[in-house]
Amino acid sequence: MSISQAYATERFVLSFELFPPKTAEAEAELSQHVAALMKFRPNFVTCTYGAGGSTRDKTLDVVEQVHRQYDCEVAAHLTCVGSTVAELLSFLVDARSRGVANIVALRGDPPRGQSDFRPVEGGLSYANELVELIRGDFPDFGIAVAGYPETHVEATSAEDDLVNLRRKVDAGADVVITQVFYDNALFYRFRDSCERLGIKVPIVPGILPVTSLPQIKRITSMCGATLPGDFSDQLAAAGDDAEAQCEVGVHHATAQVQDLIDQGVPGVHFYVLNKSQSTSRVLGGVSISR
Ligand code: FAD
Repeated sequence: MSISQAYATERFVLSFELFPPKTAEAEAELSQHVAALMKFRPNFVTCTYGAGGSTRDKTLDVVEQVHRQYDCEVAAHLTCVGSTVAELLSFLVDARSRGVANIVALRGDPPRGQSDFRPVEGGLSYANELVELIRGDFPDFGIAVAGYPETHVEATSAEDDLVNLRRKVDAGADVVITQVFYDNALFYRFRDSCERLGIKVPIVPGILPVTSLPQIKRITSMCGATLPGDFSDQLAAAGDDAEAQCEVGVHHATAQVQDLIDQGVPGVHFYVLNKSQSTSRVLGGVSISR
């Protein structure tokens, strides 16, 4: 079942996001974490696409492996960074031949050392162009795109960012998966704004349970997400105790996900960061009817 069918027919769609492991050891560990996560019967699993196409084959290897081993629907992420249209099309041909029926279509971040995004010659400038390319040449692919409850860091305004999100949906995206956020009020405001703008596809919250304060500081500084004051205070109160920080993070994510479920979200996309423990604890602590 493609991801668009899943959101159209399932009461609650559960998805997990992985990234390509860098070493053989990390790859073996990932297999064990994926096995643990499969107990929650995800509707699909995705794998990110590294900066500048550095993980092109690895991204496809990871999703193909999950698809074959668990007969689970998968989506490969794809960015415009460093690729010509011909190279993007070649990735899509490769993905299809390996049983991948869904793409998370992204522009990608500017390469390290570059402050603004510049497409390569013969490449694409924005994700809406990538969605258009996929829809034109591979009409059967399910397509997810990124949405930003706290506005994309480079956007000229929140309103412009929403208009640009709408371009992606108008170009043929089936679903919007959001950037991480830690205050559900921001998500509900974003969802309402999308609705006002006539964006009718499912808006799926992206959840990253915090497992360590330094790690989340690094992530939020890059993507522009904020930590609510009380949550930040609780993490700070845990001091250098990594286990205590993780407890606070799991507790916060569990409350966040239960509230989202109660408010009728179409599903939740977990940024699992190739580990199973925190996501498993969050899922074990919420009540979902599927
Ligand atoms: P776009 O939608 O193209 O937007 C980029 C900026 O340009 C925004 O400020 C937008 O307002 C503006 N804009 C968009 N369209 C137009 C237009 N037509 N005209 C003028 N302005 C426009 N990064 C990776 O490198 N690999 C991954 O695998 C990856 N996976 C992700 C998965 C999810 C669910 C999310 C939320 C993010 C992911 N990212 C990934 C990060 C993403 O690549 C960055 O946030 C990137 O900076 C923007 O990508 P985008 O697809 O949202 O870009």
